[in-house]
Amino acid sequence: MTAAPDTLPPLSRLESARLEWRREDGGEETPHSTTFDDVYFSRHDGRAETEHVFLATNRLPERFAGWQEARPFVIGETGFGTGLNMLCAWACFDAHAPPAARLHLISTEKFPLQRDDLARALSVWPDLAERAAPLVAQWPEAVTGVHRLWLGARVTLDLHLGDTVERLALLDGRVDAWFLDGFAPSRNPEMWRPELFETMAARSRPGATLATFTCAGVVKRGLAAAGFRWRKVPGVGRKREILAGEIAESAADRRREGTPWFSPPAPRRAGHVTVIGAGLAGASTAAALARRGVRVTLIDREGPGSGGSGNAQGALYVKLAVDTNLQSRVYLAGLFHSHRWLEALDPQQELWRPCGVLQLAMSEKEQARQARFLAHHPLPESVVRDVTANEASQLAGTPIDYDGLEYPQAGWVRPATLCARLTATPGVSFRQAEVVDMTRQGDGWSLALADGEHLAADQVVVANATLANRFAQTARIPLQPVRGQVSRLTLPRGAPALERVICAGGYVSPALDGVLTFGASFVPRDTDTGIRDADHADNLAELEATLPAFVAALREAGARLDPSNLEGRAAVRAASPDKSPYAGPVPDAEAWLNDYAGLAKDATQVPETPGRHHTGLWISTAHGSRGLASAPLCAELIASMICDEPLPLEQPLVDHLHPGRRLIRDLIQGKHESAS
Ligand code: SAM
Repeated sequence: MTAAPDTLPPLSRLESARLEWRREDGGEETPHSTTFDDVYFSRHDGRAETEHVFLATNRLPERFAGWQEARPFVIGETGFGTGLNMLCAWACFDAHAPPAARLHLISTEKFPLQRDDLARALSVWPDLAERAAPLVAQWPEAVTGVHRLWLGARVTLDLHLGDTVERLALLDGRVDAWFLDGFAPSRNPEMWRPELFETMAARSRPGATLATFTCAGVVKRGLAAAGFRWRKVPGVGRKREILAGEIAESAADRRREGTPWFSPPAPRRAGHVTVIGAGLAGASTAAALARRGVRVTLIDREGPGSGGSGNAQGALYVKLAVDTNLQSRVYLAGLFHSHRWLEALDPQQELWRPCGVLQLAMSEKEQARQARFLAHHPLPESVVRDVTANEASQLAGTPIDYDGLEYPQAGWVRPATLCARLTATPGVSFRQAEVVDMTRQGDGWSLALADGEHLAADQVVVANATLANRFAQTARIPLQPVRGQVSRLTLPRGAPALERVICAGGYVSPALDGVLTFGASFVPRDTDTGIRDADHADNLAELEATLPAFVAALREAGARLDPSNLEGRAAVRAASPDKSPYAGPVPDAEAWLNDYAGLAKDATQVPETPGRHHTGLWISTAHGSRGLASAPLCAELIASMICDEPLPLEQPLVDHLHPGRRLIRDLIQGKHESAS
């Protein structure tokens, strides 16, 4: 298959679409691209064109009506524009598909409309208003990457922002029907280059069809060269003839060239999935699976949110590296994802508040790092911006002595309540039990419980933090425990309010239910969960160093900032050696040690053998203290893998999260003995 690049193109802010609003025959305004000097759609023929060119030519009404697969039907589009095609496809799906069917839309866009323009463009179709609303509400930042939106209970849209060819090459997913849009080839030759068709072919399911309004020679030649059959069919409105086609022979092969160990396991029936661990990682995975109609049992030896996810309040934030490393890219994607996911889950904001996070630069070194960061990441100010000490003071509502960065979309969450809410998702049944062993039985798994009982499951997701590698199958996945204690101070009446989460050495959140939460201590290799006065003292010292005026005002209001007057909670978080989470299939370590033993001697001699995995076994762990940003996205990733859907991250990021990455790295460095 066309190999996905193993590095990502730089993170960048995209230029918004340049539009002119034109009236056709004195009718309603429609958008016209001044960059491409072409229309997005015609007011007169737009709907008819979409219905005919893209929907009918791909035979969507019939294919939707007959869709019986557990996986969703996948449409891939080049050039999202106003979303008209995709909203019409969704309406067509609702009109024809059986109730259990699901639809997954993938669309690329290099010049996204601004949100207001999107709303204005779609407002000419009143009958689409209900469908346009969630799209406009969740419209993502104009930043390269995959942005997953939940349009309806059974309709997902992944916007792959960036250049079409580049983005499709990074896509880990396969398509049933293509909408080849993207302005006329004569006006946009850059997009209609040969690689476009090759990349589409490599991401086509067997029998994938395509439709496009253009009959340009470059398109016909490109399609044929890439293995598509095409034919001219009658058009509609201004288009007399259009192209229909289908893949002649699907070359879709998900093997990873160059890194065969990351090749995904063959898809199988999801069946009944058991998730071990009801913290944020496990509970969000259970909810993501249940949303797809999968029957889920969620097991925890205590209850939902009893470990590292059990705090009453936690910060949703990220600290991005200056270089665009893969870890930062995962976390930025995670922050965007968590924000949209929480908005969909809890629009009333009972569980969270995107109040913004200030990351203060308390040292010259951090100041220089932040300046370099901003120079390297031209992100929109709505994502991250620099603020002076003065601005920070105004935003936080308390005097602040340091300049810093503001992440306006970040904020705080009630993790313990969130875990309980996710556990109560319809389709998830909770069971309090401790799993001590797992063995393969028939086509599934048998889980041995501490009380001697055995539970059967078709697939298993291991998500119990530091305990995740206690099973024979996961024992080679390196994890480190990190103790963390937060301090909680009940505020007296009249205490000053904090308006933002403040991060520096530690973090402090706006008071919640009259209690100020700050911390947390960070003690690697310590699994003790007892409360320590010394940790309270450290947390207090950090708070005072960061916000001396705020602490003085607290004292003035009568707060007793003394370890003996603080409540607290300590928990053990799991970390990987490289500090990125693990999310994906569990490698069969013994098989890897055999299959890839030669890499220790010569890492350039890469065998073709795809990575062998424990069938139906998955893991999500090592979320450290940033699980609010990473766990929901990893949940979506694993649920997408189990349900054979397009993945919500670019392929290099999927590989970066692979649970076998340390095993292969150590193998290459000669740190593992071969199993033979
Ligand atoms: N499908 C759209 C709809 O339903 O409204 C209309 C698409 S409009 C005709 C073409 C779109 O392709 C524009 O939004 C344009 O910004 C986008 N586009 C053009 N060149 C592109 C490229 N190289 N990569 C990604 N998108 C591109």
